[in-house]
Amino acid sequence: MHDFIPVYSPQLTGGEWDNVKECLDTTWISSRGRFVEEFEQQFASYVGTAHAISVCNGTVALHLALAGLGIGPGDKVAVQTFTYVASVNAVRYVGAEPVFIDSDPVTLQMCPQDLSRKVASGDVRAVIVAHLYGQAANMGEIASVAQRHGMLVVEDCAEAFGTRIGNRHVGIDSEVATYSFFGNKTITTGEGGMVTTDDATVAQLLRKLRGQGLAGEREYWHDVVGFNFRMTNICAAIGTAQLARADEVIERKRKIAEYYRQAIKGTPLEFHHEQPGTTHSFWMCSVLAKSAQERDTLRDYLKSCGIDTRPFFYPVHSMPMYQEWDHGPYPGADNVAYRGLNLPSFPALNDHQLDRISTAIHQFYRG
Ligand SMILES: *Cc1c(COP(=O)(O)O)cnc(C)c1O
Repeated sequence: MHDFIPVYSPQLTGGEWDNVKECLDTTWISSRGRFVEEFEQQFASYVGTAHAISVCNGTVALHLALAGLGIGPGDKVAVQTFTYVASVNAVRYVGAEPVFIDSDPVTLQMCPQDLSRKVASGDVRAVIVAHLYGQAANMGEIASVAQRHGMLVVEDCAEAFGTRIGNRHVGIDSEVATYSFFGNKTITTGEGGMVTTDDATVAQLLRKLRGQGLAGEREYWHDVVGFNFRMTNICAAIGTAQLARADEVIERKRKIAEYYRQAIKGTPLEFHHEQPGTTHSFWMCSVLAKSAQERDTLRDYLKSCGIDTRPFFYPVHSMPMYQEWDHGPYPGADNVAYRGLNLPSFPALNDHQLDRISTAIHQFYRG
């Protein structure tokens, strides 16, 4: 019997061990210590932003971003329905209301035309754009819709570390961007996240809200309701080691994607291509089957061969707690959500394993 191939597993083969050992040896295990500051500075310089504020996961990064932009009860926030649920939950955490946007079935990203239609009333304060699976959303068109309607732009880059439009990293041309460093993300700290911005005033407020809303002039004096969203020095220690190898990891992930692109030729599967003028970081290699039923039987077959896959996200508007904001239809999202799957995409995936996956896919279609 073959070894089981998971969809993802983190690679911790750089300086992670030494860095974590230093935290333990020096007893700097909480949210103070040299790694927190170093990780923030190195991350800011990697993506090309002025400020990076580390947090304890990617979900609170979104919550903090919206709070830092002053979005609250009564506000409307546009967000695509085809995304991970956290992108939408953040809207509710601050008491705002989601306005669901459809997706482009080819790129799998937010559809700018649907955004333009849904915000035409002019009362939507902000838009959260999640770049899914490592592909960049159409930020040129989304930014121009946002500008026309005076909307703030938040980019959820949890799945888009290393993704570029032209030679610019995603996330650096909007008000605020957020990242996740969960164990299956392109760089990981176990649990962790980051909020980035070029605006010094916003950055200062984000830091303040992250650390319990300390006023600063007196100890234990707080003048706003803040949070404890801090990252630990141990997580940041892992993060700096991950960042040092980031280019190598992304290069390997792009090679894996190219392998799959070639390998699925001659099958009915449709590959999620890189869009012209962008760099796809291929967080998760994605393919579309012809139908939901074909997707599910393919997944079962691969599982029986010891190969794990993931289904695409369910559209969030269809979940029970979001049905009151469902003003569909969302033909693009519904078209892809039930027939898409992610193939194993972790950087340590070797050529032998890739061959096994490719062979199994071809066997399935040959019947
Ligand atoms: C992973 C992810 C998040 C949430 O990050 P966590 O660190 O798991 O809280 C948010 N948005 C998207 C699109 C994600 O993929």
